[in-house]
Amino acid sequence: MRLQIIEKGIQFIKKCGKTIAAAAICLTATMLLLSGCSDKPDPAENSRLLSGEHEVRTASATPTGEEMLTPAGTPTITPTEAPGKETTPTPAATATPTITPAATVTPAATVTPAATVTPSATPTPTPDGGQSGESNRTGKLVVIDAGHQRKGNNDKEPDGPNSATLKAKVSSGTTGHFTGIPEYELNLIVAKKLQSILLERGYRVIMVRETHDVNLSNSERAEIANKAGADVFVRIHANANDNSDVNGAETLCQTKNNPYNSALYPQSRKLSQSILDALCAECGCKKRHVVETDTMSGINWCKVPVTIVEMGFMTNEKEDRLMATEEYRDKLAKGIADGIDAYFAE
Ligand SMILES: [Zn+2]
Repeated sequence: MRLQIIEKGIQFIKKCGKTIAAAAICLTATMLLLSGCSDKPDPAENSRLLSGEHEVRTASATPTGEEMLTPAGTPTITPTEAPGKETTPTPAATATPTITPAATVTPAATVTPAATVTPSATPTPTPDGGQSGESNRTGKLVVIDAGHQRKGNNDKEPDGPNSATLKAKVSSGTTGHFTGIPEYELNLIVAKKLQSILLERGYRVIMVRETHDVNLSNSERAEIANKAGADVFVRIHANANDNSDVNGAETLCQTKNNPYNSALYPQSRKLSQSILDALCAECGCKKRHVVETDTMSGINWCKVPVTIVEMGFMTNEKEDRLMATEEYRDKLAKGIADGIDAYFAE
């Protein structure tokens, strides 16, 4: 085959007068013929090349994954897929799996820096203006005090730093006149709901208590918020009144003339107003008022912005029964959380 074809080529060249053109044609024809004759070896080479490329990709994928550790981010997916594809076809299975676990470790490590990036990225857009509320609240510390406890403590304590006025350390609170639910139970249930909502929204949260069996006076509760450096101290309570018709929510803070922490009045007042507004908007209950008083130990001892939230009256049948439902408790917690958002949003 080859000789015959080459001879024909030579004859063709002889016929042609132009040597250079002929030589070029001859070369081209020869190469074409040779490639045409070597049908068998070519595909083999091709397959090797292809497999070689796959191996190269595979091999390069592994180091890529390792490199990814440093930069982090997008590559997380790559190492996960690569080892899976490698393992199946590769004959050198023994070696491959050894690498695989290494790659498995890689994405795990990749996740860490990714997470690190996430929080730092969240505050970044803040100054850009996006959702002002979200930006301002990120990382803020809310200390939640679920009012009262199972057993009250009638021992006395000063109602403020260096005060001569003594008050009971803590009471067990009121009770639902129609449901029989103790206030300390209701308070903790809503407090825990509030806690989870705030955590979801990016706040840091410290709970003064998570069980009913504690012995914490009102001043000690305030001290927990002080020592933690709370951005706000939110105290959850429910109300009572001799008149069962009285209903609605209200919040409490110090007066602007409080002898212990009047400097915190503007912030406490704003916090109280924000929560009262948001809670009533969410729950649809009567909005009473922000009560300013300097008679609360748990407020007087505060060195951080504080509010007492009186969610509703357990002496009013409608509210007592409402506050006994999961649905209304969810609304109370969401309303308080929205109020805290509003406080930090401005
Ligand atoms: Zn109470």
